[in-house]
Amino acid sequence: MKKVDHQKSLKAIGLISGGLDSALAVKIVQGLGVEVHGMHFILPWLDRPADTVIKMARQLNVPLEVFFCREEFLEMIKKPKHGYGVAMNPCIDCHIYQLQKAKEFMITSDADFVITGEVLGQRPMSQNRQQLLNIEKESGLGGKLLRPLSAKLLAPTELESCGVIDREKLFDFSGRSRSGLQSLAKNLGITDYIPTGGGCLLTDKNFAKRLKDLFTYGYRGHHEIILLSVGRHFRLSNHHKVIVGRDENENSCLLEQAHPKDVVLQLKDFLGPLALLQGKEPSQQMIDQAAFLVKRYSKFRDRMADVCYWRKEDPLTSEIARPKDMLEQDVEMLKIA
Ligand code: SF4
Repeated sequence: MKKVDHQKSLKAIGLISGGLDSALAVKIVQGLGVEVHGMHFILPWLDRPADTVIKMARQLNVPLEVFFCREEFLEMIKKPKHGYGVAMNPCIDCHIYQLQKAKEFMITSDADFVITGEVLGQRPMSQNRQQLLNIEKESGLGGKLLRPLSAKLLAPTELESCGVIDREKLFDFSGRSRSGLQSLAKNLGITDYIPTGGGCLLTDKNFAKRLKDLFTYGYRGHHEIILLSVGRHFRLSNHHKVIVGRDENENSCLLEQAHPKDVVLQLKDFLGPLALLQGKEPSQQMIDQAAFLVKRYSKFRDRMADVCYWRKEDPLTSEIARPKDMLEQDVEMLKIA
């Protein structure tokens, strides 16, 4: 890594989540005359940054590098070195992963250090003193990772030690309270941010069940990862799964992300859920089970209504299914989450 040049203006990579803490960290460092380049990580089930993140980058007046976490990240989730939190969230490994990528970006973009909005003691798993140290060490950013919100409570970074960053202008926030951070936001003019607890899906136990199911039975492409956060999920066999949309947006998303070989099912003459039957060559029995699920989650559960189906790649060849009656307990057995 390059040595800090005392004569040159400094440049930092600022991790931006869209939340308040990362925005504050950027703003504080900008206030010290440092040029900041934002970096945002997109988790595998998303395909674009949220509007709030783009707005935040604009508000902070920083260019934004978007990094898509894909297969390598999923491999990390399967077997995190430091374990999981409440659900399937490998927060320590996730922080290390993001910081390793930020370090690579720091080197290629000729920046001097990386900043994050981490606050000592804010999250029990990944932001206690010991883990902050571990994360810094394992990311390879030793001495070049500045956490401006808690810097005064942590060992000085290389930048503070050699005096290019004035430690006195940094902060000593700790713990879970938001009030100090919120008043700093007011002072610094940050108004529009994602509220805390906006939720990483990995901390959701139902989402974790879907992800585990996907890892167990495999998937054919990224579109199946995107669909993890859409609809109700049912496992019919080792190779077949049904997803039933819960509203119009989910119906469109299912159709948009369907694999050409997936079977699409919908009520023939009425509005209602759209379902995708994923997997190769499903049997007629599976199609009829999926058709029942379409009716089960529509207004026509106990009324006459045809369900039609077609292969995504062949929308002109539609047929009528024979929904196979299932007991509620059988539906529950098939439900993944
Ligand atoms: S909450 Fe999610 S995104 Fe945040 S560190 Fe944990 S796993 Fe990563």
